[in-house]
Amino acid sequence: MARIARRANGSVKLAVVGADNVIAPMINYTEQVRRLMSDIVSRVPRLSFLDMNRVLVFARSGRADREGPYATCHCVCLPPSDPGYYFWRDQTTGALTRRSEWFVTKSPVVRVGTAQIDYMVSFTLPRFCDQRRISARKRARYRGHPEWMAKLDTIIHELYHIDPHQPGIRRIERADGTPSTKCHSPAFFQDVVEMVTQYLTSSPDPEMLEFLRYDFAGLTARYGGVVATTFKGASYPRRYMEVLRPQPAAPDLECPVEPLDLPRSASHFTEEDLVVRRFRTATSRDLPKGKVRAA
Ligand SMILES: [Zn+2]
Repeated sequence: MARIARRANGSVKLAVVGADNVIAPMINYTEQVRRLMSDIVSRVPRLSFLDMNRVLVFARSGRADREGPYATCHCVCLPPSDPGYYFWRDQTTGALTRRSEWFVTKSPVVRVGTAQIDYMVSFTLPRFCDQRRISARKRARYRGHPEWMAKLDTIIHELYHIDPHQPGIRRIERADGTPSTKCHSPAFFQDVVEMVTQYLTSSPDPEMLEFLRYDFAGLTARYGGVVATTFKGASYPRRYMEVLRPQPAAPDLECPVEPLDLPRSASHFTEEDLVVRRFRTATSRDLPKGKVRAA
């Protein structure tokens, strides 16, 4: 049985009552990750620029036996793109035959309480907890260390994607110093290993890392269940396209203009769009309604 209780600070404590009527709190996975991330940025100088108040941690559903990411870093602070349009040309003459309306691509606005969110890091549950597909390369990086180090590596990896100098995902440079279109490089992975080592040698409280030691079944056995902050429904904040109104005058683009039929996308998100949900091995289920504090 799940029980929900409001704390004085407005957050919600979730608990399960066992057969012996002893209340054991379910583990809030996103809260644990967030706490660990805050400790990491206070101990790893290369990540000290990060303001965790502007980072939202949330969970998505994903089975451990399916392909897919363990975690993803999402930027929601990029400025709108320059206006653009789709166009079609005559293959022989190269002349413009038709074009779409002008549009821009925008980041949604995400606010949790009074905090403006710039980045979100999502974790796929239970896939992240189980990490059944650890690559040989990653195994080699942590040879001789326990398997849960791969999870710490992923957490630091996602934080390292945040660019310290400009809004967006960290840019990778090629060997000659020119910007690469990729967001990973051998140096990126090596930097992450160094930061993992730096964190572990800074004498963190072992209790901070405790939750990483268990797979999903282990967490369920120990805590009675796994809950996490997630977005209500299936969607979460993503960049979206918007038709420019009014349309800019474009006398040099004389051709038929096709209206753009864009899917409806939410442009603003708040804590009202978040919910604490129990995650299970096969499916996840909403907990009874209650005010939640974002993890
Ligand atoms: Zn990455």
